[in-house]
Amino acid sequence: MEDRKKSGKKNRVENDESRGGQKHRKVREKSLCPVSKKCGGCQMLDIPYERQLLRKQKQVEELLRDHCRVYPITGMKNPFYYRNKVHAAFGYRKGEVISGVYKEGTHEIVAVDRCMLEDQKADEIIGTIRGMLKSFKIRTYDEDTGYGLLRHVLVKRGFATGQVMVVLVTASPVFPSRNNFVRALRDRHPEITTIVQNLNDRQTSMVLGDKEKVLYGKGYIEDELCGKRFHISSRPFYQVNPVQTEMLYRRAIEAAGLTGKETVIDAYCGIGTIGIIAAGKAGKVVGVELNQDAVRDAVRNARGNKVENIQFYCNDAGRFMTGMARDGEQADVVFMDPPRGGSTEEFMEAVKILGPRRVVYVSCNPETLARDLRVFEKMGYRAREAWPFDLFPHTEHVEAVVLIQRKDT
Ligand code: SAH
Repeated sequence: MEDRKKSGKKNRVENDESRGGQKHRKVREKSLCPVSKKCGGCQMLDIPYERQLLRKQKQVEELLRDHCRVYPITGMKNPFYYRNKVHAAFGYRKGEVISGVYKEGTHEIVAVDRCMLEDQKADEIIGTIRGMLKSFKIRTYDEDTGYGLLRHVLVKRGFATGQVMVVLVTASPVFPSRNNFVRALRDRHPEITTIVQNLNDRQTSMVLGDKEKVLYGKGYIEDELCGKRFHISSRPFYQVNPVQTEMLYRRAIEAAGLTGKETVIDAYCGIGTIGIIAAGKAGKVVGVELNQDAVRDAVRNARGNKVENIQFYCNDAGRFMTGMARDGEQADVVFMDPPRGGSTEEFMEAVKILGPRRVVYVSCNPETLARDLRVFEKMGYRAREAWPFDLFPHTEHVEAVVLIQRKDT
C-alpha cells in the first residue's frame, strides 16, 4: 500500500541499552501488548514515552546538527490509539479465522485482536467482521490455493467527524449474501457511514486493488484538519495521526511566512491538505502529486472548501517542477512532503531555478532529509530551523518540519 510511507510498521525488537558499562533494563518486564514482539509495529512500546521522545530528539539533532537549530520535539498528551486507519489481513489458523498483520518478510499472519496504537472503534469493527464470517460462510482468501474470498479489511475513521469507512478487500467480485452481510454489519455498528468492496484479484503484496464498488453510503468519509474539511477515499494517502498532523501543518505554514501574495507550490501534496490550508494566506497555490486518486480528492477538497486560488496536477514532482522551471515560472514558497525515500536531485535542481525564498520541507525520514539538505546547501539554500514532531508514538519513526531559506535573503 503506498501509504506504508508513514505507517511506521516495521519489525524490530527493542534491545537493552547499556550505559557506563552497566546494563540497565529500560524496557518493561512484561510488554503492554502480548503480540508486540511478533508484530513489530511498535518497536518502542515498552520504553517510557518520555524516553522515546528523548531518543527521537537526539536522532534528529545528530542528523541535523551541522545544518540548523533543532527545537524540542512535540509529543502527544495521550500517545495511544492514535491511528485513524487500521488494516488487517485475514486468514485461518487451526481452523479459526484470524486477522492481523503479516510477520515481517512473510505472508504469515500474526493475529492481532487489539492494538494500542490503533483506533479502538476500528479494531472493534474488525473483530465483529472476524466473528461474522463463519455464519455467513465467507472464507478468507488463501494465497497458495487461490480459494476463498476475503483478503483484507481496512477501516478509516474521521476523528473530527466520527465518519467511518469499512473497505472489504475481496479476491473475487462475486460476494455471496453481500447485502445481508452489509446489513448485519451495520446493525452491529451503526456508526459505520460507508462500506466499500475493493477487488484485489492479483498475486500482490499491495492491499488494495483498482476496482471498487460502493456497498453502502457515499464511498468515502470526511475529516477536518485546521478548520478545513477533507474528502477521504480508500486509496490515497491521508495522515494517520490527525491530532499531531494539525500541529505539524500549523508549524509548516507558519514557517512559510506567507503574506497573502505569494505563489506557493505544494509538492507531494496527497489529497491537497497543506496547500488548501495555506491557500487563504497565499496569492495562488499549485499542488503536484503522483497518485491519481489523491489528485481527484484534492480537486474535490478545494471545491468543497471554496478555495479557488489552487490548482492540482498529477505528475512526478521532479518532472513537474523541471517543466515549470523550463517555462520560466517562479515560485515564492515551496512546501515539500516526499515519501520516506526523500526527494530527488531533479526536484531540487528545479527548485533552485524557480528560486523560492523559502522551502518548507516536511520529512518523515530524518536520514533522507539530511541527505537532501546537503544538496540544497550546494544550491544556495540553507536550513534555518527544524521542529521534530512525534506522529508515530511507540514506533521508531519521527517526522520533522525544516525551514530552508535562500542564502541571499
Ligand atoms: N502532503 C500530503 C501527502 C504526503 S505523503 C499530506 O500531508 O497528507 C507523500 C505523497 O507523495 C503521497 O501522496 C505520494 O503519493 C506522493 N508521491 C510519491 N512519490 C511522488 C512523486 N515522485 N511525485 C509526486 N508525488 C509523489
